[in-house]
Amino acid sequence: MKLPSTPQAWAIHLSRLVKIFHDAHGLDPFPIKVAPLAMEYSRHVFPDAPITLVDGIDLSSRFDGMLMPSPRGDGEWGIVYNKAIRSPGRINFTLAHELGHYLLHRHISPAGIQCSNRAMLDWRSELGAIEAQANTFASFLLMPLDDFRCQIRGEDISLDLMRHLSDRYEVSITAAILKWLGITERRAMLVIGSNGFIDWARSSNRLMKSGVFYRARQQTIPLPEQSLAARQGSVVGAFAEADHPRGVWLGDEDVREMTIFSHSNEMTISLLLYSNDAPDKRWANELDEPEEWDTYDQFVAGNHGSSR
Ligand SMILES: [Zn+2]
Repeated sequence: MKLPSTPQAWAIHLSRLVKIFHDAHGLDPFPIKVAPLAMEYSRHVFPDAPITLVDGIDLSSRFDGMLMPSPRGDGEWGIVYNKAIRSPGRINFTLAHELGHYLLHRHISPAGIQCSNRAMLDWRSELGAIEAQANTFASFLLMPLDDFRCQIRGEDISLDLMRHLSDRYEVSITAAILKWLGITERRAMLVIGSNGFIDWARSSNRLMKSGVFYRARQQTIPLPEQSLAARQGSVVGAFAEADHPRGVWLGDEDVREMTIFSHSNEMTISLLLYSNDAPDKRWANELDEPEEWDTYDQFVAGNHGSSR
């Protein structure tokens, strides 16, 4: 059998196997459980290089996960996550990311791969193509497009919907929003705030094309004063929504902001919805158009702690 070669093809291949297995047993395939999938699949398909360890271990706080060869030199592999991580969604995504490295990169990295926490969701090109490939694999494995589209069809875009997706696929809410941003025709942006500053941000393609995005490696940018995200002392875990007039957020137009105040690091996750048509042609300057999704780096470089 010819094996896949791209991250998407690997993810589709594995999620189809999971679906066939679960259909045959009358089970719901979601959330996809990475640990048994990784061990069973590798044992059958790569018997000389099986994954025999899937676990949380002590890692430096800078790292979320690792693909590691067995120290015994017997060809076996482990995929591990930092056991300090508590969120089941982050654990599941990390394991899927490491499984992606195993399938795609173990031959070029026989000593294994350590993955920083920023590598896991910041899909910046400068972090290296292999990190972006592992993230693409994880996203397509855990959130297959056909099912994802079914879940959002006809639904209003809300944090409740994103929470539903995060629960269904056992991924972080950030990962669910990134997936949606990658396929939506809407003009929308995800902004991760940390300690009063914009940690990083991502615009949907359509919003980017209308010129509304934060550039990478820009200077440190505070969260807009009037934004929900900048509110001090908000209840952790709470959702809040507001319709802002032009001038609050980036772009000269009204913006609907939906923000979650997260448990870790005073972090905020804001989903910004813009109207579907840019208000002014000034914002649709073709010359200023950034690169498309796979290679763009529309991030703010400031590092104010964890990226989630
Ligand atoms: Zn990695």
